[in-house]
Amino acid sequence: MKKKLDGELLLQVLQRISVPTFVIDREHIVIHWNKALENLTGYQASEMIGTVDHWKAFYPMQKPLLADLVVDNVRENAIAGYYDGKYRKSSLSEGAYEVEDFFSGLGNNGRWLFFTATPIPGADGVMLGAVQTLQDVTERKIVEDELRVSEKRYRELSITDSLTKLYNSRHFFRQLRQEIERAKRYEEALSLILLDIDNFKGYNDTYGHLEGDRVLAVLADVIRETLRSADSAYRYGGEEFTVILPETEGENALLVAERLRKCFEDTVLSPLPRSEVHMTVSVGVTQYVPGEEDSVFIKRADSAMYTAKTSGKNRVFQIR
Ligand code: GH3
Ligand code: MG
Ligand code: MG
Repeated sequence: MKKKLDGELLLQVLQRISVPTFVIDREHIVIHWNKALENLTGYQASEMIGTVDHWKAFYPMQKPLLADLVVDNVRENAIAGYYDGKYRKSSLSEGAYEVEDFFSGLGNNGRWLFFTATPIPGADGVMLGAVQTLQDVTERKIVEDELRVSEKRYRELSITDSLTKLYNSRHFFRQLRQEIERAKRYEEALSLILLDIDNFKGYNDTYGHLEGDRVLAVLADVIRETLRSADSAYRYGGEEFTVILPETEGENALLVAERLRKCFEDTVLSPLPRSEVHMTVSVGVTQYVPGEEDSVFIKRADSAMYTAKTSGKNRVFQIR
């Protein structure tokens, strides 16, 4: 008599527990389906108990649920086959697993569920069944995703120049450091291009600062279009830009620089209606000398650019 009462009591507890829960026996037959799970899935206990239809509450096609895999005591790689990268062993008991997965058929736009399945061994070690709990973690997932997106956005903003959308100088110094380390480690060539707009002050004075800003944006577009995929471009200062060219000898960087110079020279600027103005850049190119300080490398690119200026502007000069 006492035993029956305990069983009844346990059933009532399970029924009222706020975590969606079902239990299957070792034949995979549903023997319990609580109220919270009815609310989560829309499937009633009366439809489920005594059937092996529990998959219908979660998937459009028949597929074992975690509890089914646990009851069958499948190997871990079978669990991985169903929930690759989304499961882990539960610390709660031997043979138990937990998973976080998306269910597109639940709710209006699908729901994220965190679920656990735990085997229920009998006294003699024979499997009696398994209990599975499921929790809707969609709201938390949404918040996490939003946080990830805003963190990514913030990271991008902090390394991007807002006018040109190129990387800023802070990022330049950091990236150059990394590329130098990599060039040293793999004994690869590394080149640097530094460019400065010619007579830019005059352009600003003639057409105004805003038009000057537009030239900077146009030059950034030209740089972006000229670069190869491994190269990266930076707004180094007001009207000065740098390009880091990994795995590139000075001679090849010279070709990239010349293409860039020519492309910008050919670009038509229209600071006034129907006007056609061309601007030019002076460009310095140099290759990294293994062992030298970052600042020495940058200074040499700057000297090369300066020589391009003093020898007539609108040209590329390389220091070997
Ligand atoms: P050079 O050919 O020797 O480089 O002559 P320059 O006139 O380009 O060089 P200078 O250093 O005399 O002047 C650079 C000018 O760049 C001065 C400054 O007003 C302008 N400048 C720097 N940053 C910006 C910017 O963000 N927007 C605009 N519109 N102008 C800028
Ligand atoms: Mg300058
Ligand atoms: Mg200038």
